[in-house]
Amino acid sequence: MSKRDYYEILGVDKSASKDEIKKAYRKTAMKYHPDRNPDDKAAEDKFKEAAEAYDVLSNDDKRARYDRFGHAGMSGPGGFSGGGGFTVEDIFSQFGDLFGGGGSPFDSIFGRQGGARQRPRGERGSNLRIKVKLTLEDIYEGVTKKIKVKKYNTCETCSGSGAKDSKSVKSCATCGGGGYVRQIMNTPFGRMQSTVNCPKCSGSGQVVTDHCKTCKGDGRTYGEETISIQIPAGVEEGLQDYPIRNKGNAGKKGGGTGDLYIHIEELPHEHFKRHDTDLLYKLHVNFADAALGTTVTVPTITGKVKFEVPAGTQSGKIVRLKGKGLPDVQGYSKGDQIVQINVWTPKKLGNDEKKILEKLRDSPNFNPQPEKEEKSFFSKVKDKFS
Ligand SMILES: [Zn+2]
Ligand SMILES: [Zn+2]
Repeated sequence: MSKRDYYEILGVDKSASKDEIKKAYRKTAMKYHPDRNPDDKAAEDKFKEAAEAYDVLSNDDKRARYDRFGHAGMSGPGGFSGGGGFTVEDIFSQFGDLFGGGGSPFDSIFGRQGGARQRPRGERGSNLRIKVKLTLEDIYEGVTKKIKVKKYNTCETCSGSGAKDSKSVKSCATCGGGGYVRQIMNTPFGRMQSTVNCPKCSGSGQVVTDHCKTCKGDGRTYGEETISIQIPAGVEEGLQDYPIRNKGNAGKKGGGTGDLYIHIEELPHEHFKRHDTDLLYKLHVNFADAALGTTVTVPTITGKVKFEVPAGTQSGKIVRLKGKGLPDVQGYSKGDQIVQINVWTPKKLGNDEKKILEKLRDSPNFNPQPEKEEKSFFSKVKDKFS
């Protein structure tokens, strides 16, 4: 069988950089990945072919030899000895880290190859996400909430080890407590040594002879925990979920605890609509008050204040109460309360009221004379009230 050109297999130029070759290989390998092409022999062959091409082109010596002599230069010591080439397992072993978290069943094994070996015990517990409903007053002040969360918790009896007592934890005889075993594999490169997680103890280096009675060896129990959550002032719905470390599900057999994510939900307020750190408030006055001027009380987030409506106020006028809004979450500044004054037009009129108004209807001062400035200012902010 004549072999295809390695550059052609990866779809790169002869002048391609190492990085380009790596990218091209990753792309090709993902395309023909066995997880994506189950029981597809042709895809498997392409997957192997790509690995072979990458093996040569990613290595300076091999690449130089291949460039000079072609496939003929690849046999003999250090090169492919012809024949079968890679197996799928070899490929994951050699290049698995290039595939990232592709969800391959091999990732968990090969992802831990080389480098600083951790000693995994159980698997880390999953993250949890909960909703916390807050009023604008809560958000103004910041608040501590006690929340009940149903989740897996570390078993208190055995502190997560899953063992009955310290005597029932023994060093694993298969791996001598190291958590991994060496394997010799025959590969196209010759005999290769690799390390894999010990099959007996799953890499923990320990075996439990007697299980904890409370959790039956799982290292965790399911139940409700009350968690006290401090929520800073100025938080906002939907911007982000706030993580609380190690308050998610406990992992099996002491495998570490996931995180708890707090999703903020703002409860509607009877007076205010929030716009970033500003609070929008609609004030309604009757047109006699708008024409004559008056003093009213308006609510703010911290209580009622007196509010001046000047004589001759147009409907839609905007007044800012500086610093009466919400703090920003960094605590550097505060927003304003924005009051929009709306002049209320009566919907029903009695006979006396009608008579008075009919007298005023043609009065010269009742003739509209729109104030341009105020109009343009209103048009800038009125979308906030929609
Ligand atoms: Zn236990
Ligand atoms: Zn072991």
